[in-house]
Amino acid sequence: MVKTVFLDLDDTILDFRQAEAAAIRRTFEEMGLEADDAVLDRYHEINKRHWEMLEEGRITRHQVKTLRFVQLFGELNVECDGDQVWRLYERNLAMGHYFIPGAEELLATLSSRYDLYLASNGTASVQKSRLASAGIGKYFKALFISEEMGANKPSPAYFEHCFAAIPDFRLETAVIVGDSLTSDIRGGRNVGMRTIWFNPEGKPARADIPADYEFRALSELPALLETL
Ligand SMILES: [Mg+2]
Repeated sequence: MVKTVFLDLDDTILDFRQAEAAAIRRTFEEMGLEADDAVLDRYHEINKRHWEMLEEGRITRHQVKTLRFVQLFGELNVECDGDQVWRLYERNLAMGHYFIPGAEELLATLSSRYDLYLASNGTASVQKSRLASAGIGKYFKALFISEEMGANKPSPAYFEHCFAAIPDFRLETAVIVGDSLTSDIRGGRNVGMRTIWFNPEGKPARADIPADYEFRALSELPALLETL
C-alpha cells in the first residue's frame, strides 16, 4: 500500500522544456539578441549537463546558474556576465507555467488519496512562483525544494531531511515519481524507497539505474499506484 508520494515538478508536472525555451528567448531579447532553435537546443544540453554535475556534487548551485551561460555565450562568441544573465533568465523563468498533459487531473486525484510532497531540485524562488502561477501548491502537504534544504536529489541527505519533516513517515509506504533517472530514480534507490519512472518518450532504461516501475502518460499513474 502507498501512503506517501514524492513527486518531481519539472518535466513531470510542469513542462520545463517549454518554459525554458520561452525564458531563454525573452532573455536574449532583453540583451538585444535572438535565440533560434539551434541556440535553444544547445542551451538545453549545456544546462542539463550542469544540473547533472550538481547531482554528482562536482559543482555548486551558483556555478550551475552562471557557468551554463558563460559556456553558451562563449560558444556564441558573445561577452557575458554569468551572474547578470542568470538573474534575467530566472526572472523570466519564474513567469508563467506550462502543464504536462493530464497534470492537473493527476494532482487532484492523487491528493485525495495520498499524502503528496513536492520533491524538486529547482531554485526555490522560481519554483514557488511557477507553483503559484499554476495554482497547484494546494495539492502538496509540503514543498521540499533542495535549495532550501542544503542537499539535492539524489543525495541521501536530501531525502533524510524530507523524511524527518513528515509525521509518522514510513519508508515502506512511500514512493518517488519523476522523469529523471539520475536524480529521482537514483535518489529513491539511494535510500531504499520504491521508484516510479515517468518516461513519456519511451527512452531506453539504464541498467545502472533501474526503476521499480515505469509509465508513459500521467493518466496511467493512479491505477499503477493502486496496485502497489
Ligand atoms: Mg524532472
